[in-house]
Amino acid sequence: MTDINVTRSTFDEVMVPLFAPANFVPDRGLGSRVWDTEGRDYVDFAGGIAVTALGHAHPELLKVLHDQGQKLWHIGNGYTNEPVLRLATRLTNLTFADRAFFANSGAEANEAALKLARRYAVDNTGPEKVEIISFTQSFHGRTLFTVSVGGQPKYAEGFGPTPQGITHLPYNDLAAARAAIGPQTCAVIVEPVQGEGGVLPADPAFLQGLRDACDQHGALLIFDEVQTGVGRTGSLYAYMGYGVTPDILTTAKALGNGFPIGAMLTTDKIAAHFKVGVHGTTYGGNPLGAAIADKVVELISDPAVLEGVQQRSDAIKAHLKRIDECFSVFKEIRGKGLLIGAELADAYKDRAKDVLNAAAKHGVIMLIAGPNVLRFAPSLIMPMADLDEGFARIEKAIADVAH
Ligand SMILES: *Cc1c(COP(=O)(O)O)cnc(C)c1O
Repeated sequence: MTDINVTRSTFDEVMVPLFAPANFVPDRGLGSRVWDTEGRDYVDFAGGIAVTALGHAHPELLKVLHDQGQKLWHIGNGYTNEPVLRLATRLTNLTFADRAFFANSGAEANEAALKLARRYAVDNTGPEKVEIISFTQSFHGRTLFTVSVGGQPKYAEGFGPTPQGITHLPYNDLAAARAAIGPQTCAVIVEPVQGEGGVLPADPAFLQGLRDACDQHGALLIFDEVQTGVGRTGSLYAYMGYGVTPDILTTAKALGNGFPIGAMLTTDKIAAHFKVGVHGTTYGGNPLGAAIADKVVELISDPAVLEGVQQRSDAIKAHLKRIDECFSVFKEIRGKGLLIGAELADAYKDRAKDVLNAAAKHGVIMLIAGPNVLRFAPSLIMPMADLDEGFARIEKAIADVAH
């Protein structure tokens, strides 16, 4: 098939060493199963980090990829295209938003959101209204602006001067937020469920309180739904389940089911501050990505798919409880829909990676969220038989770690 022979160890020779991938090499996937280059099979509870929400090789997505692939992949933003106009129409019909901007990743969607919020405040009020409030442990991406806004300082250290005017507050602490949000605040950015930070859902009163404080001081409320969006929590977007509407919403990860695409959604009034040339992208809104995302959103916004998220969520939580009754490994099981975290008990402190490695040996692809939390973000349409089989394997992995 190809003239270049590669193995896992090639990674250590030719790749910039930013990642420490597992010692097997995934080769193909179907639904919630993945096979490695040796032909071993894995049950996939990671979904490529909450990305492949319709599983691998979904036939309807393959058809769109093939059909659009034969027509037009890329044309540049000097021209528009029908797939991107359909996707924007679908997203604005389904959400609070009137307008969409497309990028290629979550970080880029957030970068656009933060720049838009700054521009809106500077246009409307003046250069003093630039403060961005975000929360400790939050994750918003890896550009220099988004790591500076994110609440994990280690990601912003060692890169020289970072953007200024950013305040970090404790998550779910409404009193602290009320005290900090003022006339100088241009935006508050928050994940409805902190994903990378440990799968921590926001209290409904916290999000509502942020909404009220933003309204009081003319600040924009940005929901980073890069991980929680596109059905992950059982609502098309998590804000719908919370009943708190942001001014700007960012979405990526599951939006393309693995084809890189991100979006920023907002209102007419706010979007008017991004005039021609003020911001931009080469690939964003390309017809191939847009056609795929349009099909993803069409399929996931089906009420039957969203209801299925809750069923699978209940099943995973029941399995985790049962495993905990046998091994007393968990301190807390939490999360929303199919973004579930199981925090390890003190006796297993810092051993999430050991569980992940043991799970791989038993044929399970898992995720962690920090050193103490096992994270589950599988396909929203994971077959129940795969879910049960996966947990039979996870139970063996936990037994290995426990003994
Ligand atoms: C993954 C993630 C991002 C970054 O997305 P990329 O596509 O990796 O740039 C931003 N915010 C949240 C909440 C995420 O989970």
